[in-house]
Amino acid sequence: LSIKDLSDLQKLAVVGHGSSGTVYKVHHKKNQSFYALKVIFGIRQQPTLEAEILKRVDSPYVVRCHAVFDNGCSEANIENGSDLSFVMEYMEGGSLHDVLRAHHRLPEDVISCLAKRVLEGLNYLHGLHIVHRDIKPSNLLVNESGEVKIADFGISQVVKGKFEVSDLQLEMGTCAYMSPERVDPERWNGENADGFAADVWSVGVVMLECLLGHFPFISPGQKPDWATLICAICFGDSLEMPENASPEFQSFIRRCLEKDWHKRATVIQLLDHPFVNRNSCGSTRKLVDYVLPR
Ligand code: ATP
Ligand code: MG
Repeated sequence: LSIKDLSDLQKLAVVGHGSSGTVYKVHHKKNQSFYALKVIFGIRQQPTLEAEILKRVDSPYVVRCHAVFDNGCSEANIENGSDLSFVMEYMEGGSLHDVLRAHHRLPEDVISCLAKRVLEGLNYLHGLHIVHRDIKPSNLLVNESGEVKIADFGISQVVKGKFEVSDLQLEMGTCAYMSPERVDPERWNGENADGFAADVWSVGVVMLECLLGHFPFISPGQKPDWATLICAICFGDSLEMPENASPEFQSFIRRCLEKDWHKRATVIQLLDHPFVNRNSCGSTRKLVDYVLPR
């Protein structure tokens, strides 16, 4: 399939607003299909990298990008930047953030399948030396079959190979899902971290949030206060684990949320973990039962 012209796409609705741009549901008049169109305005450096990454990745675990349109950055508009658009596969179920808002929490069997897909996606990306750096519920998208895919390479980094990019401002990401070595590099030897382990940490936070029904490091109802959050991530040693959580779930979370990134499990190790392999993910309790039509 080739999408050659932006004018073939008709904007139907806004489906998301992010820190970098707006995402629309669009309809392609000629091939009668729906897509998501992410339009980014402004500064050029990172959106260009996001486009490069999107063009390269091709995996069932990562949201596909069908075309990139860049209106260029001439001398005249260099200050304000210009816009860049990505035509992506449309994920009808929205994000895991939407699923959690509607259902509050998910059963372990569903989380097990979810974890498996996200880890498969990270295994693929890490193999291409791409560190996602922003794994969180709103960046995990769901389609109508209940398949979860990784999206949003807005602050991703390529750690080896062709691209050499400097570390981007931390404030662009969400501190809440950030690992200790990124929140406090001095204490947790972040200078030497390769970045892959930080994605594993975020997976642990997301999966624990799915079972608890609220963000793990802050009690429900408590206002997110950054100082408390950073202290809990970097120093807190008593992790709130749901009372009825299975031993496999608890072990999985502890392996992800190991503060010292040297000791944290790798993606490959987690793909072998009993929690991830305990059921066939085509079975009864699937994420599709939790997806809301939109
Ligand atoms: P942020 O910086 O806030 O994470 P962003 O500007 O980088 O956001 P995205 O995360 O790519 O943008 O998209 C924002 C939201 O738009 C998503 O959380 C999701 O709800 C919706 N969205 C993005 N891509 C798609 C898609 N392919 N299909 C359906 N919805 C999408
Ligand atoms: Mg996002």
